[in-house]
Amino acid sequence: MIDFKQLADKYDTPLYVYDFGHISERYEELKKAFSGRKSLISYAVKANSNLSVLKHLAAMGSGADCVSIGEVKRALMSGIPKYKIIFSGVGKRDDEIEEALKEDILLLNLESEAEMERVEEIAKGLGIQARISIRVNPNIDPKTHPYISTGLHENKFGVDIETAKRMYIKANNSQSLDPVGIHFHIGSQLTELEPIKEAASIVADLVRSLRAIKIDIRFFDVGGGLGIVYENEETIAPYDYAQAIFSTLHGLDMTVICEPGRFMVGNSGYFLTKVLYEKVNEGRRFVIVDGAMNDLLRPSLYNAYHRVEVVGKEGEESEADLVGPVCESGDFFAKNRPLPPTEPGDLVVVHSAGAYGFVMASNYNTRPRPAEVAIIEGREKCIRVRESFEDLVKLEKMCL
Ligand SMILES: *Cc1c(COP(=O)(O)O)cnc(C)c1O
Repeated sequence: MIDFKQLADKYDTPLYVYDFGHISERYEELKKAFSGRKSLISYAVKANSNLSVLKHLAAMGSGADCVSIGEVKRALMSGIPKYKIIFSGVGKRDDEIEEALKEDILLLNLESEAEMERVEEIAKGLGIQARISIRVNPNIDPKTHPYISTGLHENKFGVDIETAKRMYIKANNSQSLDPVGIHFHIGSQLTELEPIKEAASIVADLVRSLRAIKIDIRFFDVGGGLGIVYENEETIAPYDYAQAIFSTLHGLDMTVICEPGRFMVGNSGYFLTKVLYEKVNEGRRFVIVDGAMNDLLRPSLYNAYHRVEVVGKEGEESEADLVGPVCESGDFFAKNRPLPPTEPGDLVVVHSAGAYGFVMASNYNTRPRPAEVAIIEGREKCIRVRESFEDLVKLEKMCL
């Protein structure tokens, strides 16, 4: 059990707390599920990019899936070997491509013909061959929130099968490109297996048709997206997930790459915030806390559900909105949620805040971003200090 009260007293609120033991369990569970084949778990850095989180995963053997050169640098800095690092994303700048190629990472995952031309050009200039994979958009509805759905043609991600085929042929004929992988990622917070299996099957067929024309791809990258329990969702068991993917790969000897973000860290994290006041407007009850949408955006951005708990409080619950101090009506953590009566200073724990929490935090309303604390083998360690007012203004210049 984590002593949230003690942590809140010591580090103040709002505060992020991550249980590193949980991250280890998640990694081992997934690695085991994929043990029937050659596999690489490449953690999606964007879910939680704290250097200590990355270092912890590096120590277990994890790779990294990055969506900016900054994330690639974080991964390298924390000791993830370059041959386990992937660089994905629809819009890479020339300087990002060049730096990634110079770092000699495992591969660049490409999402358009135009991007491939840029990568070819830059690799040629450097006199090297760029290892690439192509993100295929299999046009599958993943049945998740539209903002985190990526595998339909209406989304901006990847290329259609025909375009992919054309790109592989072109890459295979290029001196400067080495097509080593194929990739798809149909969405996030996936809780149904069928769409994943369908997508894998479509992409595996493409691999076979490429093989028929002597283009041999080694890495089968199934993206991330494994869902977690926020409320009472039925989620996909890692073993079933791996088996579903394996079942589409008969006859193919490929290394399976999997890029989980949320699955790895989501339920390791807690967001701690303190009650400031309560008030009632026309019969509607509000509990106002010192954390806000700038600290944890998911409820505002996706109308996401997070379990909330008022520590050590009993008493008759009544429905309330749990809201922050930011000047936006969208600034809430929970709506119409049964909560016990609260007093100023009561501690509220927002659960499942380890993924897409701190990384999406901003300084809106000139609010410093929270500190982050890790629980490692029962001991706590501060892994990011709270920002100060000075941090917030230090890059600004007063020109008048
Ligand atoms: C965001 C993303 C992931 C991770 O998604 P999760 O839902 O957090 O597992 C993996 N791969 C790619 C290409 C992504 O964009």
